[in-house]
Amino acid sequence: MEQWIEGTVVEKRHWSNGLYSLRFQAPVEPFRAGQFTRLALEIDGERVARPYSFVNPPHDSLLEVYFNEVLEGPLSPRLAALQPGDNLWVTARPNGFFTLDQIPDSENLWMIATGTALGVYLSILRTEKTWQRFRRLLLVHNVRTREQLSYNEEITVLQATYGDHFHYLPITSREESAGRLRGRILATLEDGRLEQQAGLKLTADNSHVMLCGNMGMIREVSEALESRGMRKHRKKEPGHFTTEKYH
Ligand SMILES: Cc1cc2nc3c(=O)[nH]c(=O)nc-3n(C[C@H](O)[C@H](O)[C@H](O)COP(=O)(O)OP(=O)(O)OC[C@H]3O[C@@H](n4cnc5c(N)ncnc54)[C@H](O)[C@@H]3O)c2cc1C
Repeated sequence: MEQWIEGTVVEKRHWSNGLYSLRFQAPVEPFRAGQFTRLALEIDGERVARPYSFVNPPHDSLLEVYFNEVLEGPLSPRLAALQPGDNLWVTARPNGFFTLDQIPDSENLWMIATGTALGVYLSILRTEKTWQRFRRLLLVHNVRTREQLSYNEEITVLQATYGDHFHYLPITSREESAGRLRGRILATLEDGRLEQQAGLKLTADNSHVMLCGNMGMIREVSEALESRGMRKHRKKEPGHFTTEKYH
C-alpha cells in the first residue's frame, strides 16, 4: 500500500504560459536523481494522484517538481493553482529506474528532453557523482518557443562550473532563435545539425542516450538510434539508450 504524507508548498514559480514549478517540504524517503514521486490532491472527495520527477538533487532539503498545466487534465491545473502555504499529498517512497545506476558506462551521455522532462536531468546534472562518470554530458531540450526554455539560471551555473564537460543544446520547434537549433529532435539528428552543434558524433561506441518526455519523440528518436546500430538498454542485455515516457 502506498504511504501518503502531507507536504507544504514553499515556493511557486510561473515560468511562462502554462509552465510552473513548485518547491515543497515533505519528509520523503531518500531518492536517487532521476526518480519520481507521486503527488495528489483531494478532488471531489477523491484522491487524484500523478507521477512527477524530482528536479532538485537528492541532497536538497526542499523538493521540487516542474510541470505544465494540461487544461483538460484533472490534477495539473489544480497543482498550478496552489500557493505557498497550501498542502499536497506526496508518496513517502520515491520510485523509478531512470537513474544513472541503471545505465552502463560510456564516454558521453546524451540527455534528451521534450518540455517539462528537462526537470529530471536537472536533478541528475546537479548531483556531483554524475560528473565523474562521463567525459561529456549533453543536455538537449526541445520546446516550441524560446520562452519555454526554463531554468536558465540553473543551466548557466552548470555551464560556468563544468565548461567544456557540459553541452547545452536547446531546440525550438516553432520559432527561430539566434544560436539555437530549430525543428524537432529527430530532424536535427537525421540531418546532422545536432551533432554539428555539439561538436561530437553520437555513436554506439561512444554514447549512451537518455530519452524523456512525450511518446512521439521517444518512439521516433529510438527508431533513429536503432538505425545507427544502437539498441534499448535492458539489465540483462546492455544497450545504448534508456527511456522514460511522461505522456
Ligand atoms: C514517470 C512519470 C513522470 C512524470 N513526471 C512529470 C514531470 O516531471 N512533469 C510533468 O509535467 N509531467 C510529468 N508526468 C506526467 C504527469 O504525471 C501528468 O500526467 C500530467 O501532469 C498531467 O496530469 P493531469 O492529471 O492534469 O492530466 P492526465 O489525466 O494525466 O492527462 C490528461 C491528458 O494529457 C496528456 N498529458 C499528460 N502529461 C502531459 C504533458 N506534460 N503535456 C501534454 N500533455 C500531457 C495525457 O497523455 C492525457 O491525454 C510524468 C509521468 C510519468 C509516467
